[in-house]
Amino acid sequence: MNTDVYVSITPMAEPAVGRTAELERLGDEIAELSAHLDAATARLLELIREFDARAGWNTGFRSCAEWLSWRVGLDRGAARERVRVARALGTLPRLAQALARGELSYSKVRALTRVATPDTEERLLAVGRAGTAEHVERIVRGWRRVDRLAEAQETARRHKSRALHVYQDEDGMVVFRGRLAPEVGAVLIQALTAARDALYHKAHARNVPAGTSGADVSTEPPTMPQQQADALALVAESALHYGIDPGAPGERYQVVVHVDAPVLADADAPGQSVLDDGAHVSAETSQRLACDASRVVMRHDPDGRILEVGARTRTIPPALRRALHHRDRGCRFPGCGLRFGQGHHIRHWAHGGATTLSNLALLCRRHHRAVHEEGYQVERQPDGELRFRRPDGRPLPESPTLPAVPGDPVGMLRARHEERGLDVHARTSMPGWLGERLDVGWAIDVLHPLAATRQYPS
Ligand SMILES: [Zn+2]
Ligand SMILES: [Zn+2]
Repeated sequence: MNTDVYVSITPMAEPAVGRTAELERLGDEIAELSAHLDAATARLLELIREFDARAGWNTGFRSCAEWLSWRVGLDRGAARERVRVARALGTLPRLAQALARGELSYSKVRALTRVATPDTEERLLAVGRAGTAEHVERIVRGWRRVDRLAEAQETARRHKSRALHVYQDEDGMVVFRGRLAPEVGAVLIQALTAARDALYHKAHARNVPAGTSGADVSTEPPTMPQQQADALALVAESALHYGIDPGAPGERYQVVVHVDAPVLADADAPGQSVLDDGAHVSAETSQRLACDASRVVMRHDPDGRILEVGARTRTIPPALRRALHHRDRGCRFPGCGLRFGQGHHIRHWAHGGATTLSNLALLCRRHHRAVHEEGYQVERQPDGELRFRRPDGRPLPESPTLPAVPGDPVGMLRARHEERGLDVHARTSMPGWLGERLDVGWAIDVLHPLAATRQYPS
């Protein structure tokens, strides 16, 4: 036997006690630092929760996740997940504490918060403590299946229980009693509100005594239930009059603005911007709506009579819009990037701004509002790049510079955790699992409050 060969093919078998001890130390260090990072993550989530609850991100960003992605460079999905977990932990103190002590990894906590409620938190915490991250993931998936089944059954039950009973009382009045699915109820409530507005608020605005349309001759203003009854009558009359046809969604929510030309050019100019139903909108809003819209120009004589109606044209022709989408790809507001957007004229066409690619920028609905109505500014610099500014004039960079990290971030974390009396070591987050096979079905049966009743086949 050649000893040289033996040594070279099985270096692992080398009886190097010192080496094993060294690797064990390295492993311990990895485990300890991971626990420290988990504890620090708990603090980070606490800060995010507070920032989110106090709407600190509401400075031109559409959500806390979007702000987070912009400010610290997380990818969009990870940022959303952080915010979700941060919010969930607000009602799950036991899981929050386990993470803060470095006893449960962020991965486990993230999985558990997908299903945990204050009622089931304790049981799921035990799952997190006992199992590996993979066990936890599998149990959470099984748990979700039971939850979803329960949810689907609940939805089906609600749908089945929909009903509207209509009958005549002894005095001839028609009585209703019913149950509608939530989304159907929302439509009814919206229709009643619209009808009530039409009957009472408009009547009020025209100084017509409310309720004169009915047989109500009393001078007392009608009560809310009385108004609702009148509103339901109007909804029924309108449906029969115009035909029962829900229409295309686009038509249902279409908004038409009538605006005087001087107002478009100068928000301070006298003139008006009104919606079709007579409601006024601000000059800034009408400028935004006109920025990317279908346009019909009407000329009036001094008495307000229409002299001439031009053809309906798109402010931004289709070919230019395609080029704009191709160039900008999404909303250009820092940190946004939403795929769908509106063409914003950097210099408004009512001010003589050209409808050309260099004078256009794609902005999502939220950020289009930000630049027209909230004082955010955007300009194109000579080099072609866009520059955004906050309402107070401070620049809003595409991505902010990250804060400096101390030379020894690990030492800083450790010191900070020691200061808070936190005892984190290499075995802090070790699961209690001893290598047994995991039987997910059995675990769910034992743990899930609904599965225990055996209503749900696994
Ligand atoms: Zn615009
Ligand atoms: Zn946007």
